[in-house]
Amino acid sequence: MELELLHSGISITTLSGEEALLTEDAVESLKGQIQGDVLLPSDDDYDQARKIWNGMIDKRPALIVRCTGPADVIDAVKFARTHNILVSIRGGGHNVAGNALVDNGMVIDLSKMRGIHVDPKSRTVRAEAGATLGELDRETQVFGLAVPSGIVTTTGIAGLTLGGGFGWLARKHGLSSDNLISVDMVTAEGEFLTVSETEHEDLFWGLRGGGGNFGIVTSFEYRLQSIGPMVLGGMLLHPMEDAPKFLRFYRDFISDAPDELAVAPILRLAPPAPFLPEEVHGMPVVGVIVLYAGPIEKGEKLIAPLRQYGKPLVDGIGPKPFRLLQSLLDASARPGLNYYVKSEFLPALSDDVIDTLVEHASKITSPLSVIAGFHLGGAVSRIDEDATAYSHRDAAYSLIINCAWTDPDESEKHIQWTRAFWQALQPFSSGGAYVNFQSRDEGEDRVKATYGTAKYERLSKLKKKYDPLNFFRLNQNIRPTS
Ligand SMILES: Cc1cc2nc3c(=O)[nH]c(=O)nc-3n(C[C@H](O)[C@H](O)[C@H](O)COP(=O)(O)OP(=O)(O)OC[C@H]3O[C@@H](n4cnc5c(N)ncnc54)[C@H](O)[C@@H]3O)c2cc1C
Repeated sequence: MELELLHSGISITTLSGEEALLTEDAVESLKGQIQGDVLLPSDDDYDQARKIWNGMIDKRPALIVRCTGPADVIDAVKFARTHNILVSIRGGGHNVAGNALVDNGMVIDLSKMRGIHVDPKSRTVRAEAGATLGELDRETQVFGLAVPSGIVTTTGIAGLTLGGGFGWLARKHGLSSDNLISVDMVTAEGEFLTVSETEHEDLFWGLRGGGGNFGIVTSFEYRLQSIGPMVLGGMLLHPMEDAPKFLRFYRDFISDAPDELAVAPILRLAPPAPFLPEEVHGMPVVGVIVLYAGPIEKGEKLIAPLRQYGKPLVDGIGPKPFRLLQSLLDASARPGLNYYVKSEFLPALSDDVIDTLVEHASKITSPLSVIAGFHLGGAVSRIDEDATAYSHRDAAYSLIINCAWTDPDESEKHIQWTRAFWQALQPFSSGGAYVNFQSRDEGEDRVKATYGTAKYERLSKLKKKYDPLNFFRLNQNIRPTS
């Protein structure tokens, strides 16, 4: 009898973590409803569909529903609710924590939904939630416009925007989520909602920084900003032994920078990139990546002192297409490597922070790892802390220790280096880390610390209103108030 049952269905994990049987009839009825694909482990595309950016994540979902539009998302949510299945949401699949996938549950996968429509007259764009940053830039740059977003083109717009979203244009134009006009989404009840400043305002507040806790966004409507197509920017590198002095010089140089100028410090082993001379490859280096979002000549004058400092190994700063600058770091974030990330908001680059950075970066364990400081402030910090769920608007930097390696047998060594580095930064922290950079082992307290008590409570109440069962729980989870 038991055998017969197993043959007539598939095993799934329920919302409460138990194992249950989903009948073959139920799976067939789902396949009949969904316009996209319903993939099972026996399907040819299954292994490809369960690959995400972080090669460390090896989860085996029971079902992957690749949606083609909001109707598929609604049906998938209702199906999961009826059968009490644990679900994950996949946007661009870039999150280091790997919450886009779920073992033995159901993935609601938006990667087929990538339509982008720019309206140059109203300077707005609507993009479906499976689109990547590179795809968004490609369409918007046709009109010399852009949504302020992140710095690696293969990142998904969905997870990035819902966690906040910062990159080269954040100081000038704010976060990606600060440029949101509205979203279309599907709630935990399978209800379709349009959410904006004037419709479900409470939810709009929570979606701008609260991550994937409140529903499945099917498309985003953003305001567009003028940029490019040519901008001034690029990478400048010095040998690591100059790091203590160079970083202090950089800190003083940047202290009164205009919003147009974003300069991110980096420490790493120089990669074998075509824009770097061969003799530099593999050398421990410190440097900056620059983007000036204003007239090129003005930017050249402004950054001259930075370029004149010491004897750089490489000065790759010059006029470049905006899209080229947006992809400058793509090679350092190749999909499929093993990744472990730790991060911290920092109020400033104090002498102690600089010394800690140099000490630990000098012990770097992999040529693929990068330490980078996202340069914040400017427009991000001028928006009231309580205006959106995104937290730590006053942080000067979001520091990321992005550890990457190829050999899975070496994982322990690299993870230990990352943790020790991050631990050493704790005394200098603003008190939390960007939710989008948190790893899978960081836990609830870290999420709470990041939002702070008052904001976490507000988010928790919102969660209770829109998702009281915590149906959307595979994320940097906000628990509904009890
Ligand atoms: C190489 C790299 C570079 C990065 N650079 C930046 C950067 O410059 N700036 C920055 O701000 N961040 C950056 N990030 C962090 C990035 O914002 C997060 O990893 C983000 O979660 C990626 O979104 P995704 O849709 O690709 O991820 P996914 O892994 O698909 O999703 C992550 C989570 O977001 C939620 N989610 C995804 N789609 C939806 C949806 N449609 N509706 C509701 N919830 C959803 C889910 O909870 C999901 O688990 C970077 C990450 C990487 C790996």
